[in-house]
Amino acid sequence: MKRDKTILIIGGGFSSLAASCYLSKAGYNVTLLEKNQTVGGRARQLKKAGFTFDIGPTFYWMPDVFERFFADFGKRVEDFYHLEKLNPAYQVFFKDGSEIKIEDNFESIKQTFEEIEPGADRKLQRFIDDAGDNYDLAIQDLVYKPGENIFEIATAKTALKIGLFFKSISAQVKQVVKNDRLKQILEFPVLFLGAKPSTTPAFYNFMNYADLKLGTWHPHGGMYRVIDALKELALELGVKIELECPVEEILVDGHSARGVRAGGKEFLADIILSGADYWHTEKLLPKALRQYKEKFWEKQTFAPSALLFYVGFKKKLKNVSHHTLFFDADFKLHAEEIYDTKKWPSDPLFYASFPSMTDQDAAPEGKEAGIFLMPIATNLEDKEETRQKYFDLIISRMEKMTNQPIRDEILFQESYSINDFKKDYNAYGGNAYGLANTLLQTHILRPKLKSKKVKNLYFTGQLTVPGPGVPPSLISGKVVSELILKHDR
Ligand SMILES: Cc1cc2nc3c(=O)[nH]c(=O)nc-3n(C[C@H](O)[C@H](O)[C@H](O)COP(=O)(O)OP(=O)(O)OC[C@H]3O[C@@H](n4cnc5c(N)ncnc54)[C@H](O)[C@@H]3O)c2cc1C
Repeated sequence: MKRDKTILIIGGGFSSLAASCYLSKAGYNVTLLEKNQTVGGRARQLKKAGFTFDIGPTFYWMPDVFERFFADFGKRVEDFYHLEKLNPAYQVFFKDGSEIKIEDNFESIKQTFEEIEPGADRKLQRFIDDAGDNYDLAIQDLVYKPGENIFEIATAKTALKIGLFFKSISAQVKQVVKNDRLKQILEFPVLFLGAKPSTTPAFYNFMNYADLKLGTWHPHGGMYRVIDALKELALELGVKIELECPVEEILVDGHSARGVRAGGKEFLADIILSGADYWHTEKLLPKALRQYKEKFWEKQTFAPSALLFYVGFKKKLKNVSHHTLFFDADFKLHAEEIYDTKKWPSDPLFYASFPSMTDQDAAPEGKEAGIFLMPIATNLEDKEETRQKYFDLIISRMEKMTNQPIRDEILFQESYSINDFKKDYNAYGGNAYGLANTLLQTHILRPKLKSKKVKNLYFTGQLTVPGPGVPPSLISGKVVSELILKHDR
C-alpha cells in the first residue's frame, strides 16, 4: 500500500478516471483535476429542453473490455448500467439509394452478404475467423502492454501475424468481397482507429470481429452512464475530484515534478499523471523538459476532427435506425480531404445517431434526438457559416435518402467542432479522437506513457498506447497505473 504518496491526475476523461480507480485501489492518495464543469472529457453530455445527447462517443463496442475493467474492482457492468444489444447494429445508406442493415447476429449478417454477392458468406466467415484470432491475440497479448519495448509483443504468436502489419486493411478487404457496398461495410470499423483503411494495418481487422461478432450495444441513459459509473467507482475508492480546475503549469525541481499550479492554487504531489492531450501536457512544462518538439506533432497522423450537430426533432423520424451511416458519397475523396489535402469536404460522408429510438430518456415523448457527425481534417478554419452550410447539406441529404421532410421538424440545433475541441479539451489541431493507429503509430512508436525528461511524470489517453476509442482509453488507464506501480516499488 502507498498511503503516504500522492498522485495528481490531470483531466477527467475515460483514461484518467480509469487510472484514478486503479491507483486509488493500490493505496495512493489520488486527486483528479479537471478543467471543465463535469468529468467525461470528450464523452461529456449535453442536456437541452428535455433532450439528452452524448457529445462524443455513441458506439459501445467490445463489451468484454468494460466487463474486465469493472471486474478488476469486484464489480459488474450491471451494478452500474443496463446494456441493450442493438438490432440492427446499424444501417447504411449508399449512393445508389440502397441501404443495408447489419443485424445483431453473425448468421444474418452472412446471409445479407451472400444475397448481395454469392459466395461472400464463406469468405466473410474465413475473414471473421482470422479477425477473431487477432482479437484474442490483441486483447490477451498486445493492447494491455505499455509500449516500453518491442519484446513485450514479440511472441511466437505475433510473429505468425507479422504479414498483417505490412498489408493494409483495404488490401485485405478487396480479397474478401468485390461489391463496393460490402467493401465499405468491412472498411468502416477501422475508421474508429482514426486513419484511412489504406494506411491501417490488416491486423486491425480485429475491429471487424468487434463489430460483426461482438455487436453494438447501448447503455441505457447513453454513453455518459459509463462516465457516471467510473466517477461513482472512483469516489467510492476515495479519489478526490476537483472540477473547474484547469492545470496551468507543472511545477518542477530539476528533473522532478513537485506538483501543479491549477486555478491559481498549488497542488503538491509525488507523481503526476496526465490524461489531457499529450501535446498540451508537455506545454505545461518548461521547454527543456518537453520530449516532443512541435515538428514531431506536425508529422504525426492525427485522427480526424469532427463537425457535430445535436438536434431536437419535434416528432419521431422514419426509415432510420439508432445508428445510421450515410455512405452516399465518395468514401475515397472524403478520406483524401481529411488526411491528404486537408480541406473542408466537397461531398462528405456522415453518421447519424438517434438514441431516442431505443432509449426513452433521450428525448421527450413523441420526439427524436439526433446526433450528426461529419469527420473532417484537423486545424481547418472553423466558421459559423461553414457549420451552417454543412448542416443544410446534411439535412437535405437525409431528407432525400430517408424519403421524408424533416427540416420543419427541427426544434433546435447545437453545433460542435474544431474551435470547441481546442477550447474545451486543449486538443492539438482540434482533433476529436487523438492519434491514429497506423503502422508507424502503433505500440512502441506511439508517444510514451512515461516522460523521459521528468522522472515522475506519466501520460495516458488516446494519444498514447493503445490508441483512440473508449475501450482503448480504459485500457490505457490500467496500463499506465501498472507501469507507475512497477516503477514505484
Ligand atoms: C465526436 C466523437 C465521437 C466518438 N465516438 C466514439 C465511439 O462511438 N466509440 C468509441 O469507443 N470512441 C469514440 N470516440 C473516442 C473516445 O470518446 C475517446 O477516445 C475517449 O473518450 C478519450 O478519452 P481520454 O481520456 O483519452 O481523453 P479526453 O476525454 O479528452 O480527456 C481529457 C481530459 O483532460 C481535460 N483537460 C485538458 N487540459 C486540461 C488541463 N490543463 N487541466 C485540467 N484538465 C484538462 C479535458 O477537459 C478532458 O476532460 C469519439 C470521440 C469523439 C470526440
